[in-house]
Amino acid sequence: MTEKKYDVLVIGAGPGGMTTALYASRANLKVAMLDRGIYGGQMNNTAEVENYPGFTSIMGPELAEKMYQSSTQFGAEFLYGSVTKINVLPDGTKQVETDNGIFEAKAVVIATGSEPRKLGIPGEQEFSGRGVSYCAVCDGAFYRNKKVVVIGGGDSAIEEGLYLANLVEEVNVVHRRDQLRAQKILQDRAFANDKMKFTWNSVPVEILGDEMKVTGVKIKNKITGKEEVLDASGVFIYVGTTPMTEPFKDLDITDEQGWIITDDHMQTKIPGIFAVGDVRQKFLRQITTAVGDAGIAGQEVFNYVQGALANA
Ligand code: FAD
Ligand code: NAP
Repeated sequence: MTEKKYDVLVIGAGPGGMTTALYASRANLKVAMLDRGIYGGQMNNTAEVENYPGFTSIMGPELAEKMYQSSTQFGAEFLYGSVTKINVLPDGTKQVETDNGIFEAKAVVIATGSEPRKLGIPGEQEFSGRGVSYCAVCDGAFYRNKKVVVIGGGDSAIEEGLYLANLVEEVNVVHRRDQLRAQKILQDRAFANDKMKFTWNSVPVEILGDEMKVTGVKIKNKITGKEEVLDASGVFIYVGTTPMTEPFKDLDITDEQGWIITDDHMQTKIPGIFAVGDVRQKFLRQITTAVGDAGIAGQEVFNYVQGALANA
């Protein structure tokens, strides 16, 4: 049974979804954001944000709260719902299935972002939540004055590693090459930080622990083939992200890796289905680029709904 009808349903309430809701509701459309969790998306897993204009530095969860206040000020609703499928009805209406009922809208904006990629090595799943983490801001405080290992060499690994360095005794960054991928400014800070240590050309092969918790990581040097165990109470894994597009696979709107393909107007190949933010096939995944996509989508969705009304 359809529970509620909207002009626009935004799936996901991270920075992309919230900004879309702001623009569309300010254009006087009836808008709801559906999220399977709390609003804020990846910002809730981010310690410090210092590349979002207007704030020299702000904690991710605080920025999420401020964006939520903005996004709901013109009447956009925030609803719980884990989306499982979108159906396009013969008249073009979009029917969105969730674990909290079925919703309908003239247009849908997908803003489901991405989730941390897993390493898939022994011990990772077993010790998840007991020493293995994908979120320094959530779990860092458990490792005060202890040794932790960070896996990865991108922005997330280095930025969150620097956050951890404020709390822990030592952060050992294990990276599979001898050069970081992270932005230069983050690299400079990391190399200047006494608590940051680097283990190059190495990949984790197993996360080790006792019955209760993680005790270390077995790594392998890719050049020498030598294996060694690094002592660690916590292992923070930042090896990239994968798109949250499983519910949309029947629509055939993604590339081979699952990222959604849109044009410059954020329009997918299905009229009235748009996508913004990290879930898109794009060059740079940041808060600024997610909100930039969303400004465009908010305007385009208005044009689409006006057109749908004119043709009704
Ligand atoms: P997300 O923020 O991922 O939000 C997606 C939302 O969709 C989530 O709330 C999720 O619950 C919801 N969702 C997913 N699937 C469903 C479903 N089926 N049904 C309902 N809801 C669903 N960028 C910066 O600019 N500066 C930084 O300092 C920075 N630091 C970062 C640190 C880390 C550790 C990480 C991982 C990323 C960082 N980023 C940073 C990148 C930035 O967080 C992302 O680019 C941004 O959050 C993307 O926004 P989004 O709205 O597209 O998606
Ligand atoms: P990323 O840029 O894809 O980096 C992933 C890192 O993990 C790379 O260094 C990669 O190595 C390594 N890696 C991948 N698979 C691995 C494996 N199986 N085993 C070992 N190492 C592996 O991902 P991210 O750092 O999470 O960043 C995601 C997006 O968010 C990016 O667009 C980033 O710019 C953005 N972000 C921005 C900020 C910021 O602006 N301050 C902060 C965080 C994230 P290689 O280098 O060898 O490929």
